[in-house]
Amino acid sequence: MFEKILIANRGEIALRVIRACREMGIKSVAVHSTADSDAMHVRMADEAICIGPPSSTDSYLNVASIIAACEVTGAQAIHPGYGFLSENAAFVQALEDHDIAFIGPTAEHIRTMGDKITAKDTMINLGVPCVPGSAGGVPDYETAVKVAEEVGFPVIIKATAGGGGRGMKLAKSIDELEVAFRTARAEGKSAFGNDEVYIEKYLGKPRHIEIQVFGDGKGNAVHLGERDCSLQRRHQKVFEEAPGPVITPELRAQIGKTCAEAVAKINYIGAGTIEFLYEDGEFYFIEMNTRLQVEHPVTEAIFGVDLVREQIRVAAGMDMSFGQNDLVINGHAIEVRINAERLPNFAPCPGKITQYHAPGGLGVRMDSALYDGYSIPPYYDSLIGKLIVHGRNRPEALARLKRALGELIVDGVATTLPLFDALLEEPEILTGDYDIHWLEKWLETNL
Ligand code: ADP
Repeated sequence: MFEKILIANRGEIALRVIRACREMGIKSVAVHSTADSDAMHVRMADEAICIGPPSSTDSYLNVASIIAACEVTGAQAIHPGYGFLSENAAFVQALEDHDIAFIGPTAEHIRTMGDKITAKDTMINLGVPCVPGSAGGVPDYETAVKVAEEVGFPVIIKATAGGGGRGMKLAKSIDELEVAFRTARAEGKSAFGNDEVYIEKYLGKPRHIEIQVFGDGKGNAVHLGERDCSLQRRHQKVFEEAPGPVITPELRAQIGKTCAEAVAKINYIGAGTIEFLYEDGEFYFIEMNTRLQVEHPVTEAIFGVDLVREQIRVAAGMDMSFGQNDLVINGHAIEVRINAERLPNFAPCPGKITQYHAPGGLGVRMDSALYDGYSIPPYYDSLIGKLIVHGRNRPEALARLKRALGELIVDGVATTLPLFDALLEEPEILTGDYDIHWLEKWLETNL
């Protein structure tokens, strides 16, 4: 087992990894920018090293500084968290060259899944159902017209290098196709340095269902059911739950098995998420994330496992601590993402926290790096905390969420908390009757 792990991240996810390390008796090293000297992850880790100025490019994305920090502290492995360098194949390659273990999949798997066209191709070959669309990239507008007419409007044009909802454009009819095609290409080029795009059938009322998978890198893999992340704003998730309100045990077993077998076949190592759109009883693959997801705690809650501990184990060459038969669902869990943003426009709202009080009690988990007097810097993501509740069933989880939201105090900055108070009054949220467009439509009339 590793003696010391460096966490190449900040905020709540850095704390999440430090906690797992501490329970495993592993020393942790925090890295931070000059803007984060007073951050909680710096205080909580065993050691901390400054890796550069505030801008992420110069600090949390600075590969040379991070490798140097490993060498200075003697850390043998790096946990990347999510975002930043977590899905950067070149970074993983650089670590290999320096003999530092990466707590995550191989550079090759990251590369394959990071390119959405290659990922889709790979999944089709592994027997995973995909959204109908172009076979690979669409090189020019003339081809786009042909594919779109074959697939049938509406279609969505996606940049193969896209992510975070960027590089995706909807064309409802042929009149919108040219602009959508050229915009998706331009966005792919400017945001990701790659203008290759592909076309998919646009599904009208799907749910976003993702399957958590886990592999040991030696051909064994399991699935840990699904998360329903359909409540999204601008393709960003805001409320996630497990199990999914509309997924039956039979459907779960079937798609779970397909996913676990697919990742076993490629000797996948560590945590991964296979994302699907789900409509009328059918699953359609959209992408695979080769890292720990923000919403992993809902899965941990219902299965009673520690996914970060498991990631560390397999990265150190150990076996997984569970097999498929050990994984039994217990109850229902919900996570809400709390952002320092001002409603109704969701404008980022950094600033000083004058008072912070986390909720507690049975079935409540608050993952946050906030504390009284902390100043949220303006340079990074606006996620300031995740509130996760667990109950014996969905109604109990919803009641617990409402109760916990009532206890939570975040003063000094505007947050998205009022959104959740309002959502918990909505009949569709209470019954679980929502698709990926529900929240955006609700926001238009309710905020
Ligand atoms: P990103 O990598 O940017 O997150 P994804 O491919 O995962 O992009 O898609 C993000 C979201 O966009 C999905 O959760 C869904 O809401 C929407 N979306 C993607 N593909 C389709 C599609 N074919 N039809 C309808 N909506 C889609």
